Amino acid sequence: MKKLVVANWKMLPASLAEAREILERIDGCLRDGVDADLVVCPPFVFVEEVAQMLAEGALAEGASLGAQDIADRDEGALTGEVSGPQLVKLGVRFVLIGHSERRWKLGESDDVVNAKLRAALRAGLVPIVCLGERTRDGAWQEELAAQTAATFRGLTAGQVGQCLIAYEPVWAISTNPDAKPDTPAGAVQSMSHIRQTLADHFDVSHTTFLYGGSVTPANAKEFLERPEISGVLVGGASVHPEEFCRILMVATR
Ligand code: PEP
Repeated sequence: MKKLVVANWKMLPASLAEAREILERIDGCLRDGVDADLVVCPPFVFVEEVAQMLAEGALAEGASLGAQDIADRDEGALTGEVSGPQLVKLGVRFVLIGHSERRWKLGESDDVVNAKLRAALRAGLVPIVCLGERTRDGAWQEELAAQTAATFRGLTAGQVGQCLIAYEPVWAISTNPDAKPDTPAGAVQSMSHIRQTLADHFDVSHTTFLYGGSVTPANAKEFLERPEISGVLVGGASVHPEEFCRILMVATR
């Protein structure tokens, strides 16, 4: 199985011209023999144009379009939000659900994340569900288990089977002060904890797990060489084409 590399551009780049530049560079490294699955999640304002760019050159073969969020209602319901059907019409296939910055900086609760997850599934999108504890102090494993259970509450086994899970400890996300990446062993342990929590209700033996949190060209290899880790979710480094291409190279086996 190819490794999966998800680029989460967050609120960058500042302009469409820069988005094009980044994608041209990525197109170049795909032509240089990168063999990994790639999902690009631009900010909403660039989704339509990025969809067109991903339809060209080597990107057309090797890259899919993702969105960074989805509204938990259908079209026409909430001012300023973006619906699942709108994303699908633009060619979006994947959507990040419950990213830690939305959970912790924008106060998105587990209930809201659960509703967004249902919206993504209703629209036929592949949810990339982000889970992760806030700190490693105290009862963090209980926190992770409770977040996992609440995020997937009420879903069917079939629905859970359609999700990818990104383990992204909040303390490891590069925008946090003192952020540092988890260790591969620590990430695998947390993934197994999430798996066990879900295994009480669902068959997660085939669920794909990604690691996210300060992934760089320097540390990507040690995460990606673990068989339990099917890919990486990359934030900060994903808008720096040199760094991101090196991560794609590392993901190529
Ligand atoms: C992210 O935003 O999903 C992320 C993992 O960020 P970073 O790589 O910058 O830590």
